[in-house]
Amino acid sequence: MSISLPEHFSEFAEARQQGFLAVKELKESGKKVCGTFCQYTPAEIILAAGLYSVGLCGKSAAPIKTAETRLPANLCPLIKASYGHALEDSCPYAYFSDIVVGETTCDGKKKMYELLGELKPMQVIHLPNLPDYERSLDMWITELRAFTRGLEEFTGEEITEDKLNEAIEWCNKERVQAARIYELGKYDPPAITGTHMRDVMEGEQYIFDRHRKYEKLKEILDQCEADWHAGQGPFAPDPCRPRIIISGAGLGGVAEKTVNVLEELGGAIVCYEGCSGISSRRRLVSEDRSRDPIVRIAEKYIEVPCAVVSPNTRRMEQVADTIDEWKADGVVSLTLHSCNPFAIETENIRRVCQRKGIPLLHIETDFTPGDEGQIRTRIEAYLEMIRKKKEEALYG
Ligand code: SF4
Ligand code: SF4
Repeated sequence: MSISLPEHFSEFAEARQQGFLAVKELKESGKKVCGTFCQYTPAEIILAAGLYSVGLCGKSAAPIKTAETRLPANLCPLIKASYGHALEDSCPYAYFSDIVVGETTCDGKKKMYELLGELKPMQVIHLPNLPDYERSLDMWITELRAFTRGLEEFTGEEITEDKLNEAIEWCNKERVQAARIYELGKYDPPAITGTHMRDVMEGEQYIFDRHRKYEKLKEILDQCEADWHAGQGPFAPDPCRPRIIISGAGLGGVAEKTVNVLEELGGAIVCYEGCSGISSRRRLVSEDRSRDPIVRIAEKYIEVPCAVVSPNTRRMEQVADTIDEWKADGVVSLTLHSCNPFAIETENIRRVCQRKGIPLLHIETDFTPGDEGQIRTRIEAYLEMIRKKKEEALYG
């Protein structure tokens, strides 16, 4: 039976709102919820501990005023919004979190966690800043063992090797499936819009029945492929349509004025680079059960290509590979105001783009609407430039 695609997408798109009830029901049934902020948090260990994970990154300007009563105004909006929600109890996910996990990523987050720890039970994982050093992996393994012990103490349940192995295999299965979303962007024209890709990526963290979520997503992906092959994909054929990769972090609160506008103005977002983009879905945890599962988990997560580590060579290699694989015509780097790691690293991405002969657009913004018009104008000019270049290459 054919499924109604918009309905399925909207289920993911609305998952954050609908998830409020789901998380309340989880709590009422005696389950424990673990709030997380970052891709460095090993989902496998949380799953093996029997906890339900939920993302707590703030995406709205609303709680920022409250946060600024304690935090400096010139701090990244994601950090302020996340803390503001916890301070004013305005986010049910933060409210219902029994424990919150943070990592020593950027300075702002690290220091904010000290204050957040006054409001919620917290575990902070110490992240090595120089991932390419061998001793960094040793330190990271030690940290993940301490994290595991901390969760055992919190739940009163042992996290056995069997539980970890099962969690590793399940999380890998989910990742392989999620990577298919981005594969749809490789089609020409793409078999999914970048807006829908994002809805799914964002929404999936608020659907707590993992098996149901897996099946729903499979239906969506199969349907997208079938529609494309039947000539009913979301984009009409257009050899000059700019194919764009979105790069950066903290897109949650800025997507409407960036991602959505890019497609509204005739571009196609073919892939997302960044910690929650294609790379995190492609890198799996080794399933070699003869080896220590914590070591295998550490090996994957030390490779998260985040701008907070240095040098971030993996990310640059990944940007270059993604441009080639997705046949991208441009990269748009989205960074939040006062986010030094990603803003500085945009220069390195610009160099990769230069080597590949494609233009980079850097948009620095926050969760407020004041710059919408200016961003729209810049996106329009950027897309026009790419389209003209493609037309000249095709038609002379
Ligand atoms: S961008 Fe870096 S700090 Fe932010 S969630 Fe991703 S991995 Fe964590
Ligand atoms: S967007 Fe930048 S400044 Fe904000 S939390 Fe992420 S890494 Fe830190």
